[in-house]
Amino acid sequence: MFHVKHYLGMVIIMFHVKHKNIYKLLFNLALKSLKNNDVPVGAIVVYNNEIIGKGYNTRQSKCDVCGHAEVNAIRNAEKKMGDWRLDDCILITTLKPCEMCHEIIKSSRIKNVYYYIDQQSVSYKIDENYIKFDSIDAYLIKYSKIFKNFFKKLR
Ligand SMILES: [Zn+2]
Repeated sequence: MFHVKHYLGMVIIMFHVKHKNIYKLLFNLALKSLKNNDVPVGAIVVYNNEIIGKGYNTRQSKCDVCGHAEVNAIRNAEKKMGDWRLDDCILITTLKPCEMCHEIIKSSRIKNVYYYIDQQSVSYKIDENYIKFDSIDAYLIKYSKIFKNFFKKLR
């Protein structure tokens, strides 16, 4: 499903997903959050090299405290699978999941989580199945910029 490469001290993960630039997709999902003044986050669920769930943050736009990108991606995947059990699926997200999402990820039985930007405020103990990856992809580099700018504007 993926392989890990080390490049200049970075952890680069090559995801094998059919017919999709997943970084572009994650970036576009994050942009949708941003349009509604939500923290820009994009998440996808992958099963058997196929994207079965997509989500972006809709906390503001839908007045939904649970509307985090990861939860939305999981809900989307569950609908597609016709099952709440997402064994053997992986979740790829632009931001390290918060405590709430961490619990939901565990309950949905997703085993492996890959995230791009770290969140210091998150205090759960990280398992080895949570992997922070680096990227030299232009879309993810653009993502870091919009993510940082979002919080700059709030200050
Ligand atoms: Zn969350």
